[in-house]
Amino acid sequence: MRDRISYLFSRIFIGRCGFDELSRFLMASVPVPLLLSMLLRKTAGGYISMFFFAVSMVLFVWSVWRAFSSQLYNRKCENDHFLSSSTYHSVSDTVTRLSQMKEYRFFRCRTCRTWLRVPRGKGKIRIDCPKCGNSFITKT
Ligand SMILES: [Zn+2]
Repeated sequence: MRDRISYLFSRIFIGRCGFDELSRFLMASVPVPLLLSMLLRKTAGGYISMFFFAVSMVLFVWSVWRAFSSQLYNRKCENDHFLSSSTYHSVSDTVTRLSQMKEYRFFRCRTCRTWLRVPRGKGKIRIDCPKCGNSFITKT
């Protein structure tokens, strides 16, 4: 049954762009304006709420439209542009840090703002920044 469903999905996306990083990012962004829309329902006669609802729908439709687009070259260019953007880097770095929070602690170098990763539970240690050489003592 599960194989049949994944087979059907793979058939649907033949010759289509599919959900690349940009489409997944757009889809993952949908709840943000949607939540704002729900929270601001009673503000300014509901117009702000309607605006945020429209934004969330645009993100949703844009994401699905990209996934089903057969203009692969154009979609790939958009995705490459997105992957080289600072938005993608900061989001993916944050996701990576959150997924490693159980095993590691993250500190920011006070001099060069580089993220530094150290294992948890090592007590008080001195951290040397590999980029600028600044060092500080902290608890892990
Ligand atoms: Zn540094």
